[in-house]
Amino acid sequence: MGVVDDAGAVQTMSEAKLASTGPGGMRGTGVLQAIARMSSTRTNYWVGHAADFLVSFVLLGTAYWLGHGHSALVSVLVFLLGLLIFSFIEYAFHRWLFHGPVRLFEHGHTIHHEQPLGYDSLPFFFPPAVVLLLAAALALVLPTAMALLLTGAIALGYALYGFSHMIIHRRGRFNHPLARKWAAVHHVHHFHSDKNYGVTSPLWDFLLGTWYVSKSKVR
Ligand SMILES: [Zn+2]
Ligand SMILES: [Zn+2]
Repeated sequence: MGVVDDAGAVQTMSEAKLASTGPGGMRGTGVLQAIARMSSTRTNYWVGHAADFLVSFVLLGTAYWLGHGHSALVSVLVFLLGLLIFSFIEYAFHRWLFHGPVRLFEHGHTIHHEQPLGYDSLPFFFPPAVVLLLAAALALVLPTAMALLLTGAIALGYALYGFSHMIIHRRGRFNHPLARKWAAVHHVHHFHSDKNYGVTSPLWDFLLGTWYVSKSKVR
């Protein structure tokens, strides 16, 4: 999974805790180590992808079921806003956290750059838990259906990001030229890590000056 390739972050937390605690902290340390071990398994990787989609569908479905009170146009606009917000989160996390100065965030992503086909990812329950907390927080300030719709769209953006990143690295050559160009943009990032932070779309790279395409055309 994507924003995301940070089982290493959990591992780093675990190491730090191990160094700073005595026997009294052993139980907590054991749990963190178990989570870190689980985060590098293939099962966690695939369950994580499924859980990301599941939580977004549950939120969007519940928002639809609660519905009413606003027009279909407003719903579509809120949904698109959620996707747009996620595209910026994707860019910002990748640029300023995963390629940033703090080792806790950077470490796991470095593993992805070194082993793009590895299975290290966040614990499967972590992104859905964050999404549900976000939904609860937004429900305090927005009508519930609107909060769930917005959060569901952000969560769908995240799930699509994870899926996109996975197929870019695992599928091999795409048949359609546009899909090949899209995948090539991310492959460029693996060689020029200060360019092309967007995986699902190049929008924020265009706007913030980090877009790069190889002079030799992708065919
Ligand atoms: Zn990648
Ligand atoms: Zn990167």
